Amino acid sequence: MERPAIEGGRPVRETNLFYGHQYIDEADIEAVTGVLRSDFLTCGPKITELEKRLCELTGAGYATAVSNGTAALHIACQAVGIQEGDEVITTPITFAASANCALYCGARPVFADIDSQTYNIDPARVAEKITDATKAVVAVDFTGQAAPLDELLALCREKGIVLIEDAAHSIGTRYNGRPVGSIADITTFSFHPVKTVTGGEGGAVLTNNRELYTKINLFRAHGITRDETLMRHPSQGGWYYEQIALGMNYRMTDIQAALICSQLDKLELFGRRRREIVERYNRAFENIPEVFVQKETEKSDTVRHLYILRIRPERLTIDRRQFFDAMAAEHICCNVHYIPVYRHPYYESLGYEKGLCPEAERLYDEIVSLPLYYSMTDQDVEDVILAVKKICEYYRKS
Ligand SMILES: *Cc1c(COP(=O)(O)O)cnc(C)c1O
Repeated sequence: MERPAIEGGRPVRETNLFYGHQYIDEADIEAVTGVLRSDFLTCGPKITELEKRLCELTGAGYATAVSNGTAALHIACQAVGIQEGDEVITTPITFAASANCALYCGARPVFADIDSQTYNIDPARVAEKITDATKAVVAVDFTGQAAPLDELLALCREKGIVLIEDAAHSIGTRYNGRPVGSIADITTFSFHPVKTVTGGEGGAVLTNNRELYTKINLFRAHGITRDETLMRHPSQGGWYYEQIALGMNYRMTDIQAALICSQLDKLELFGRRRREIVERYNRAFENIPEVFVQKETEKSDTVRHLYILRIRPERLTIDRRQFFDAMAAEHICCNVHYIPVYRHPYYESLGYEKGLCPEAERLYDEIVSLPLYYSMTDQDVEDVILAVKKICEYYRKS
């Protein structure tokens, strides 16, 4: 069902450009094959190395590698004791996992609307949603730009609730000069292939709190411990372990950990290139009256994961859907991040209704995610800009 490029003419490029792609080099491949030739495929030295690297990178006291970012969020909620009857406040403009983690624990996700300029959760809207049942806020660093952590932390401290930072987009980002990972009570990462650093799948849970760390570790592996200080009964011998809580198997393999460690060697490089592309996009789009550029906040020194282009439908003869299709006809394959979580049918079935977060719903109607990844060439970047310009000019409202 390919639409012809506009003016019946040639598309700006001949081959499809996708919105995200992992970058794997020979060092990554060697790191993985090294594990395959070694004694440990899981629970081995690469896990320990990755956890140490994450602490060094972020300044967090403790890091726990887990199977994926969703598991990381589930563990975070479990570790802070979220349960039935509790409420967890999060943003609607995120991947469903940021809210699903509350549901896994029997709690109710509560959606607080976003700031219309930064697209991050708005602390004033969070404050309005806090009740006696609120146990935690799951703040998402949307696109890689840190959420307003100062305001959220102050609010959480005042109300005695926990701040969980879903940093799936923001590895490498700094807030007030401090790396993401050491700021909130718990921070979670994802290493899915579209994220800045990948392990195929993978995640991590970071905290400075030793008590939380112990719970996080337990929950990762069945609630089982070999630590005698945690056991309820005296050890019966060298084989002995105890299950002292109900946990999951959320372990990461050493194969993934080796790949992530090797990718972390390139985080600076990845971050720099992403920054370059974002700056090039910003410069081009700031001069196009038919679109908005996402506002950057001063406190966040951002490694950008997503580039969101917001169209101004009142200045165009087409809507977002047609804009998305027109980009595809130019062979630029965009995406949309995100459908407001509570607009999914499953959430509708739980009683959430349209109109809950008007800013989020409006944003969703006006955005496309443009290609942004390390290995894009300068020509790829120019093609994207050309396509946006061409479409805006052609469909400009006179
Ligand atoms: C990717 C993502 C997750 C989930 O991570 P997985 O590793 O895919 O489970 C959670 N939250 C946000 C904001 C994400 O982008």
